[in-house]
Amino acid sequence: MLPDVELLVKLQGLDLRASEYRKEIALLPKDIAVIEKDLAIHLKRLEAGRASLAASQKERKTVDLEIQAQQQKIAKLRDQMTGAKTNEQFHAFQNEIAYCEAAIKKHEDRIVEMMETFERLDQNVKQAEESVRAEKEQVDKKKADALARSAEDQKKLAEVMEERKVLTPQLSRQAALLYDKLTKRYQGVVISDASKGDCGCCHLVVRPQLFQELRKADRLIVCENCGRLLYYNPPVAFDEQVGAPAVAMPDPTPSKRTSSALRAPSGPSGRRVDMT
Ligand SMILES: [Zn+2]
Repeated sequence: MLPDVELLVKLQGLDLRASEYRKEIALLPKDIAVIEKDLAIHLKRLEAGRASLAASQKERKTVDLEIQAQQQKIAKLRDQMTGAKTNEQFHAFQNEIAYCEAAIKKHEDRIVEMMETFERLDQNVKQAEESVRAEKEQVDKKKADALARSAEDQKKLAEVMEERKVLTPQLSRQAALLYDKLTKRYQGVVISDASKGDCGCCHLVVRPQLFQELRKADRLIVCENCGRLLYYNPPVAFDEQVGAPAVAMPDPTPSKRTSSALRAPSGPSGRRVDMT
């Protein structure tokens, strides 16, 4: 593989990783918003529960005041009743008092009902408070996890950018310009593996003559359809080559990889043949 192509494959690997890290980092505010949304729902429920409880307490106070007013009225009527001059007047006071007592009874029944409601509302509020407390704990934990993940991504991104900084000056000007042009044109993969005889991205079959040139690896070759940079590197040879110095051309005293490449059958359908 041409040193330039080898460098570009590495550079692309770094850029793809950097892009993934950036995507994840960019998602952080959205993730936090989703996490906090659940808490907001629980808080809203708690507020609603507290409002109902307050309304119930207010109604209870009103009813208590009503009862108090009726009792005062009865006391006043009883006072007045002692001064009744006729039976009719006496009965009129009695009726009035009975009317007030009936009103009090009605209010007292309402209080019994309200006490049941109050108990239920109070229970709801207590449950909602507990939910909010538990949810908040979860939210804090999830937020801390998301922030930690993001910080880790930032760290990895910085590492990738450092590696990139070391790698890019090693590229030829032509290779750097081509890579720059291709990355502006395409998102993602711009260096395409054509070891199987077609462009790994657009799948156009590489002409036999071009494929021979690709295998010779003495110049940069681009796909005639999509324009991506092509490289030839059969899978086994690629594995062996990891970490090894770049080999531009077959060597007269070849390594296993180079001699294998020379022995490999020609043409797009040709795969590497094992030496043994
Ligand atoms: Zn292509």
